[in-house]
Amino acid sequence: MKTWTPPRPDVRAGSDPVEIAERVWWVGGRLPGDPFPCHAYLIEHGDQSVLIDPGSALTWPDTRKKIQAILPFSDIRWFVLHHQDPDITGALAVVEELVERDDACWITHWRAEVLLEHLAPRLPFWRVEEHDWHLDLGGRRLEFVFTPYLHFPGAFATFDRGSGTLFSSDLFGGFTDDDRLFAGGPEDFAGIDLFHQHYMPSREVLLHTLLRLQRLPIERIAPQHGRVIGGELVPAVLNRLSRLECGLYLLSEQDSDLERLVSLSTLLRDTMKSMALEREFRAIAESVLDRVRRILPIRRVEFVALADDDRALRLCSEDRFRGAFGPVPAALRRLVGTPAAAWNADEAERLVAEDPACGTPGGGDLALPLYPAHEDRLFGLALLEAPEGADRPGAEDALRLVAQPLAVAVERELLFRSLESERERIYQQSIRDPLTGLYTRRYLEDAARRMIGLHDRDPKAGFALLMIDVDHFKAVNDRHGHLAGDRVLAEVAARIGERIRESDVAVRYGGEEIAVFLPLATEDEAVATGERLRSGIAERPVDADGVEIPVTVSLGLACHRPGEDLTELVRRADGALYEAKESGRNRLRVARK
Ligand code: GH3
Ligand code: MG
Ligand code: MG
Repeated sequence: MKTWTPPRPDVRAGSDPVEIAERVWWVGGRLPGDPFPCHAYLIEHGDQSVLIDPGSALTWPDTRKKIQAILPFSDIRWFVLHHQDPDITGALAVVEELVERDDACWITHWRAEVLLEHLAPRLPFWRVEEHDWHLDLGGRRLEFVFTPYLHFPGAFATFDRGSGTLFSSDLFGGFTDDDRLFAGGPEDFAGIDLFHQHYMPSREVLLHTLLRLQRLPIERIAPQHGRVIGGELVPAVLNRLSRLECGLYLLSEQDSDLERLVSLSTLLRDTMKSMALEREFRAIAESVLDRVRRILPIRRVEFVALADDDRALRLCSEDRFRGAFGPVPAALRRLVGTPAAAWNADEAERLVAEDPACGTPGGGDLALPLYPAHEDRLFGLALLEAPEGADRPGAEDALRLVAQPLAVAVERELLFRSLESERERIYQQSIRDPLTGLYTRRYLEDAARRMIGLHDRDPKAGFALLMIDVDHFKAVNDRHGHLAGDRVLAEVAARIGERIRESDVAVRYGGEEIAVFLPLATEDEAVATGERLRSGIAERPVDADGVEIPVTVSLGLACHRPGEDLTELVRRADGALYEAKESGRNRLRVARK
């Protein structure tokens, strides 16, 4: 028996059969100038020989001649039909005319059989799924690998263990522009991508099959179209195909420009990726816009969305999406709640153009509706300013696609910011004393540390603390009741608040004791402030429900010394306050020690 020598890698698909592996033959028929050649293969195995995907009436004469050069036709018992396309099965009737043996049969899957019945075949069907997906030829095992939906629901491929050849049918097929039979390198994979991108329904379906194929010891792939892929290119092509853009036609209703669909699909995938990786809206928006700009030269973008508290969140590219809450623009007010089916882009763009409170001044914005993840009610708009004459309609698919993930990003941002402002409200509540409206001691700790820190860095700037205590307050309570006492306290706090600067911090330190921190105040300025407070409080009595209650305060002043902590500063101010009380009240004393 002759031994097999591998064919030259540059062998052409011509008029002679090519032995692609030991006793495995390419016997394809070739039509002149056809970019889509259909390969048939023959496994030479004595009187159990197998013909794989015979071809059509057009290619059959060529295939038949090649077979005759290898073996007598009567040696072929098994005819594999990987699916029911005419380029595989068109020759069914003429093939059957040549078959003389009784045990010959068609190997296929029942899903193909029910269609092939319509060709009125004479030979019986041998169903792969009824034979545990394998066929023993006697010393040679063929395994059938189910590849559902990769071309057709009942599609399968055949793996010949003896030679390590996968007859993959449509899978790994490709468009070709010359008749080289073998793939020379990864540069030949472009035609494979193109071929599959056209129809591959989803990556999930594809990966399911690729994973099964990866477990086989494949030495070469012999597809029905394109080129035979051998040796080290096998893992590369498996890997390449696992990254194929799939389901492209789901992305667009009309577009059949494959390149454009691929760029859309990439855009969508990148958008999803940046949503998963980035937390900040700015980072997401900027990376998405960056990609959208490759399709449409957008100058400016603004997102405007309705928040729960009847304000609108606006995020625009010009302030790098810092964003702010504000009144709801009229255009958004009109469009909020619109279901997707009622969306009218022209009308929305007109509303936006007429609304000075949103969009680009002067108009010309493309408006995209934003819907929350789980509701068919518009909650926001993305407004994109593209230059006049840009290919707007052409970019609409892309924009419609990215609007979905962007809506999720805007919704997330809205939620995040609402939580933030709720947190701020709760914080304000916890740091404000309800009776006096002054800061609480909880806030003092934080604020004092910051103020002391600032002063330590710039001691010349000055920083002082006034400790203020109502004189004979117990007597007020005793004489007029606790409620009147409260009234007096609130009024004292109000009079202090009116007489200090925005940057000063007044804290209710204890019961009727108030601490006022004076950042950037020198001793003279602090004394002047203290005097102003003292006289402002003493100048007229407090009116508590018609009862006039005279009130005075005593004050202790301490100027912060570099390195001094809060406890020490307060201790010294308290000391000065004590002196003020001791020396007669309604006066200010400065801590000297
Ligand atoms: P002095 O001039 O020495 O400060 O005399 P005083 O009476 O103000 O001194 P003291 O500190 O003994 O009394 C403070 C009183 O303030 C006692 C307490 O019942 C009262 N007080 C503390 N907090 C409140 C408050 O929120 N409302 C009212 N109505 N009274 C308060
Ligand atoms: Mg007091
Ligand atoms: Mg007191």
